[in-house]
Amino acid sequence: MKRDSGKRAPGRFDALELARTSGIISGEVDPGKLPRIADRLAPSADSLPVRITWRIDGGHDAMGRPALTVSVEGEVRLICQRCLRPVAVSISQRTMLLLAPSELDLAVLDEAEPEVVLANAPVDPLGLVEDELLLSLPFSPRHDENECAAAVATQSGRAVQSPFAGLAQLKARQGSRN
Ligand SMILES: [Zn+2]
Repeated sequence: MKRDSGKRAPGRFDALELARTSGIISGEVDPGKLPRIADRLAPSADSLPVRITWRIDGGHDAMGRPALTVSVEGEVRLICQRCLRPVAVSISQRTMLLLAPSELDLAVLDEAEPEVVLANAPVDPLGLVEDELLLSLPFSPRHDENECAAAVATQSGRAVQSPFAGLAQLKARQGSRN
């Protein structure tokens, strides 16, 4: 497995091989390009690029079974359900997925384990990333109470920024060392 340190997202990969070799793949993605995420995003009022950094670590679970740990970090702009203005939501999701080498393994594992991926064919990393992002998006995003009022009051004034935005960017940088 070639490690990809560039901006280009790697294509489909052999998940069992990544687990066996404890390999890592990583990249960045514009969440607006992910069909199941794009619908939930606030329309972009500026041209600031939005990037989610992601990383997939191959390895094994505590029982020695092949697994992938999928991490997504960054920030998305959703629509506040109270004032209908964009609200920045920090994303920091990390999930271990067990790998099922065959359909039969999938059926057995699915009975007992919450997160199982069929790995009998090359896996699309962005599909896994999109799944994790969907899980981490709040069902009903809202500003904090005081911020929401501020967002309305400063309609034509200064930009309103979440106090967590800087933290999210910092964490995103820390998470993208590969
Ligand atoms: Zn609001």
